[in-house]
Amino acid sequence: MHVTALGTGDVVGTPKIGCDCDVCREARQTGKQRLRTSILVEHKGKHLLIDTGPDMRAQLLAAGSPHIDAVIWTHGHYDHFMGFGDFYRVQRDLIPVYGIAEVLSYCGSIFSFMRHREVVMTPYEPMDICGMSVTLFPVMHDTPTCGVRIEADGAVFVYSCDTTDQLSAPTLETMKGADLLLLDGIFPPEVHISKHMNIRDAERLAERLAPKEFWCVHMSHKIRWDYRYGARDMQTWDLPANRE
Ligand SMILES: [Zn+2]
Ligand SMILES: [Zn+2]
Ligand SMILES: [Zn+2]
Repeated sequence: MHVTALGTGDVVGTPKIGCDCDVCREARQTGKQRLRTSILVEHKGKHLLIDTGPDMRAQLLAAGSPHIDAVIWTHGHYDHFMGFGDFYRVQRDLIPVYGIAEVLSYCGSIFSFMRHREVVMTPYEPMDICGMSVTLFPVMHDTPTCGVRIEADGAVFVYSCDTTDQLSAPTLETMKGADLLLLDGIFPPEVHISKHMNIRDAERLAERLAPKEFWCVHMSHKIRWDYRYGARDMQTWDLPANRE
């Protein structure tokens, strides 16, 4: 399984429009950026997209224009699904979109003008997607939201954004045993927000879940570029790590 962070930013991205903080200034000077968070998972030539954020067109071009075989929507917030329209007129086949019922009915209604096939998933029940075993687990946000656990070739990838660290026992159990864990880390430790984790919350959760590798995604412009667990746009991972 080959995982690519197509974007690692929050809803407004970095640099933030109109912001002149150190992080945004450095971004403008160097060309660094954090596009909105979406994840591409490749397995045996098939491509699964987790979330379709509003930077989708630039992200798919940067990733070499892969044919998308399936999509998962984690939740119905702008930065996680509105780029689905970038598939329009590009892929003529009927793209299956997976998610829990509440998310599919909300996001699907907005994209009712585009042909797609909705596949309802039940939390904690694995389903085969692109030859991988995929499980959705409910997390804690301000709208129905799921994280994703993917198993293939004996490797485990766990992705959870957006959420607080107030997670149920079955969800914590589902998040354990990861080779790679990507978590929501939107703000520095001194900033608390009711529907997300700051990076200290994310680090503490990662410590409890004990993955082999851990990185933050969904970071705002308040997170410095040299943050040790800050994933970079287009960062990739091969899982299992010791095998190509
Ligand atoms: Zn800024
Ligand atoms: Zn959200
Ligand atoms: Zn978000």
